[in-house]
Amino acid sequence: MRTVRLALAFVVLAGVALMAQGRGGGAPAPPLNLPADTPRITALKNEALAEVDKLKDFTQQMVDQIFSYGELGFQEVETHKYLVALLRQNGFTVEEGVAGIPTAFMASWGSGKPVIALGSDIDGIPQASQKPGVAYRDPIVEGAPGHGEGHNSGQAVNITAAIVLKKIMEREKMPGTIRIWPGTAEELVGTKAYFVRAGLFKDVDVALFTHVGNNLSVSWGAGGGTALVSVEYTFEGETAHSAGAPWRGRSALDAVELMNVGWNYRREHLPLEHRSHYVIRNGGDQPNVVPRNASVWYYFRDITYPRLKELWAIGDQIAEGAAKMANVKLLPTRVLGSAWPRHFNRAIAQVTHDNIRQVGMPTWSEDDLTLARALQKELGARETGLATQVSGLGQPVTDNRGGGSDDIGDISWNVPTVTLSFPSNIPGLPGHNWANAVAMATPIAHKGATAGAKVQAMTLVDIVTKPELVTAAWDYFNNVQTRTQKYEPLIRPQDQPAIDLNREVMSRYREEMRKYYFDPTRYKTYLEQLGIKYPMIKR
Ligand SMILES: [Zn+2]
Repeated sequence: MRTVRLALAFVVLAGVALMAQGRGGGAPAPPLNLPADTPRITALKNEALAEVDKLKDFTQQMVDQIFSYGELGFQEVETHKYLVALLRQNGFTVEEGVAGIPTAFMASWGSGKPVIALGSDIDGIPQASQKPGVAYRDPIVEGAPGHGEGHNSGQAVNITAAIVLKKIMEREKMPGTIRIWPGTAEELVGTKAYFVRAGLFKDVDVALFTHVGNNLSVSWGAGGGTALVSVEYTFEGETAHSAGAPWRGRSALDAVELMNVGWNYRREHLPLEHRSHYVIRNGGDQPNVVPRNASVWYYFRDITYPRLKELWAIGDQIAEGAAKMANVKLLPTRVLGSAWPRHFNRAIAQVTHDNIRQVGMPTWSEDDLTLARALQKELGARETGLATQVSGLGQPVTDNRGGGSDDIGDISWNVPTVTLSFPSNIPGLPGHNWANAVAMATPIAHKGATAGAKVQAMTLVDIVTKPELVTAAWDYFNNVQTRTQKYEPLIRPQDQPAIDLNREVMSRYREEMRKYYFDPTRYKTYLEQLGIKYPMIKR
């Protein structure tokens, strides 16, 4: 009985895809004065690079396994089970169900300082089921969710890097703690503010986040994109016979529709950088019964925290007005997710970028390039193939025009954080779409994840061998980033993680999807299991 309607024609990307937009505004700032690599550190980094290469099949298996699960936010049950078992096998202690979220965990290895928290998202996108390595729409299971953002690849980057560093730290008897955690339900910006509220980052020195992209890159300062609050408005009226006694009914659906009309009129007078969109989650039961309950789910986005709060207040006001017009009650609103704007740490970004330059882009095969160009052609995008040069160090965004959001923002305002973008996907894609899944269990994704793991492993070496780096990171965090702006959560004391989201849709598809879970005991790759001759393109 759910009617779903998209408010806007344009697709808004979560994650870093749009971060490059609006960046710049003048010459890059001169680099910070950070400690150089000693010969010992250089040797450890070279060792880490070689070890990550040796683990490339292990990395590939993780990427393929999570791809095959294709689970939506808060329902990452198989992904969770798989990662927890894998981390335990590799010597990590894992606490499950952290922050009251069944598919969230915190894994830990080592002891003492520094404490480094490695995170990456794990959830998929509705309707994005897609055969990997096929350059046109061809779902594995029609209508099912899939990894149409590429969140199947980031845990592989972090886990490979962590295992390599753990081996080095054990041999060298280095103090330090490595934590690994999932960005559960990132597509709903549903969990990271709760992780912060639960104190999971209280003793963390540095957070290294990683997200799929189409290049190896990192940035510092204010990121692009928006802060977000996700709010459900539910109205309550009274049923009546829609034909026999409509004057006795009070329609909650009327309030939903009036709220949307009101919002769309108001949109003309909102800041250009804002974004807002909604779906109707409940539009009533059947036409001959006046709808007693109806609800609409809004994403409000704006580029700063104060402006987002203003936008949210306008939404609340319009909802109250709509309730009055329809003569129904507005029930207490439910916050289903939230994200602060992103702000990344200068010192950590700088060393990460130095490592990026050493690692460089993967070597793409003719097959990789053929797939990329064929997909770009299929979508009417520029046929640029794959990126071959690493990006420069991203500078603070000074002319932010809005865009997607990521709740890593909340963590970035609590502990020095960077997001490493790694090249597991193809440039020029729409985002949140089947096309963004095409590369994600192919050699493009595998090589991209290995490149990302190399950078991550080298940055871990930097952090455990250079206490001055951690000091510089906190100096920037305390004296630059948070000097005038302090973190205040968007979630209210009464809000709880929306762990019921996606339960219904996931249960509809899970049994059919289960037939296609990757079985690494029988097949080397997921492409092999699906019998796909890489790359498959329209001839
Ligand atoms: Zn994402």
